[in-house]
Amino acid sequence: MSESSQGKDTSGVTLGRFFAQAREGALTGIRCVGCGALAVPPKELCPECGARRWEPVPLSGEGTIASYTVIRVAPRGHAGDAPYAIAAVRLREGVSLLGRVVDVPLEALAVGLPVRFRPIVVKDRPAIAFGPA
Ligand SMILES: [Zn+2]
Repeated sequence: MSESSQGKDTSGVTLGRFFAQAREGALTGIRCVGCGALAVPPKELCPECGARRWEPVPLSGEGTIASYTVIRVAPRGHAGDAPYAIAAVRLREGVSLLGRVVDVPLEALAVGLPVRFRPIVVKDRPAIAFGPA
């Protein structure tokens, strides 16, 4: 029963660490030890099999836009940033990740456009973004 104290253990891959690494420019996904599913950003439970054991997997950060939305009326606190685009990017490794699109003109956005992960800081907090590949 000594395992109960480690019930929350996700092999040290936490959301905080994910963003700390992202700030340094490293994108890290996690792979479920149970079924091999890849997830990013880190989750507590594997959405595929419910396991709670993960191992970190470095991601290339290279991918293509799978879908995108142009935000013209920004949430409170981001008003000065609009319009901007949020894209779901399908990474080379096969997982998709949401992020803001930077340095790509809105009219140039297209599904299938190659992009590359780029860390940004929004209101002093690290955030996920994608720029031109
Ligand atoms: Zn799993």
